[in-house]
Amino acid sequence: MYRVEVDRNLCSSTSNCVEDAPLAFEMGEDGIARAISGAAPDEVLRGAQSCPVEAIRVYDIASGKRVFP
Ligand code: SF4
Repeated sequence: MYRVEVDRNLCSSTSNCVEDAPLAFEMGEDGIARAISGAAPDEVLRGAQSCPVEAIRVYDIASGKRVFP
């Protein structure tokens, strides 16, 4: 399982992550993307990789290591 962080200072509200991985990300009412808990790892990574500003950081919960970027 992954832990996902969206950097609110970097997110520029492009919605790429939501379009490419709608099961893992949604747009908040503040216009900043947020992670949907329990999403499948491949969906999480697809969304993270679609972000043009690398605002999405993905960590492996078991090891604590950063998986992306
Ligand atoms: S793709 Fe990146 S910049 Fe665009 S909404 Fe998602 S987190 Fe924000």
